[in-house]
Amino acid sequence: MTYACGQCGFIFTRTGPVECCPACERDCLRRATAAEQSQLTLLLRREQPKQTGSMKR
Ligand SMILES: [Zn+2]
Repeated sequence: MTYACGQCGFIFTRTGPVECCPACERDCLRRATAAEQSQLTLLLRREQPKQTGSMKR
């Protein structure tokens, strides 16, 4: 499930229940909207290092 913090706007994904925001540590989390979820997906995709190169020699 994807959560969004109502205080600082931090978006993250957790499988279990979350009590407070990992960024600002306040307990004002809500379910992320579909737009926020796709925003997070885009961010994660951008941050992943490219591993297209082959390690063979
Ligand atoms: Zn927060």
